[in-house]
Amino acid sequence: EAVRELLLARIRDVPDYPKPGVVFKDITPLLADPVAFTALTGLFADQCVRYGATKVVGLEARGFILAAPVAVRAGLGFVPVRKAGKLPGATLGQAYELEYGTAEVEIHAEDLSADDRVMVIDDVLATGGTAQASLELIRRAGAQVAGVSVLMELGFLAGRARLETALAGAPLESV
Ligand code: 5GP
Repeated sequence: EAVRELLLARIRDVPDYPKPGVVFKDITPLLADPVAFTALTGLFADQCVRYGATKVVGLEARGFILAAPVAVRAGLGFVPVRKAGKLPGATLGQAYELEYGTAEVEIHAEDLSADDRVMVIDDVLATGGTAQASLELIRRAGAQVAGVSVLMELGFLAGRARLETALAGAPLESV
């Protein structure tokens, strides 16, 4: 619990960012603290082992920063889920609803196989749209979902409920 206190102390609330009325959770103080960053990636890596993951998916962009060291620490491969148009190879794409409009994420289909169990890692679960689309991509790529793990869950946005069907019983962990 000392670890959780430390992590919480290294997350900065930035009011009215990126727009008025939103309080942005800024993780850069946590990343800059080697004790906190190492502790967090260690917790995520333990979850990868516990849930039998074979691959770690990171969600652009802060998810990349967290998931890549987790993959290395757990001895697993890393697979990026990117915003549409950024991956050069053959991709699968999944659109999802935003508050205003839609967004789309993509994955390289060949990075996952039927033998893979995938842990999805990101910094913040907000509405759950990004994570939900990512779970669909993982299943469409033929792999299984080991779980979703985030640093923070913004409970008032009900992302957990939105993810329930896509999780299909897989765990959603928030540190
Ligand atoms: P969702 O799709 O769940 O609504 O949004 C989650 C995505 O938006 C995550 O990839 C996350 O990085 C980003 N995000 C949303 N709100 C915040 C926030 O307050 N702080 C940070 N660091 N990221 C956020």
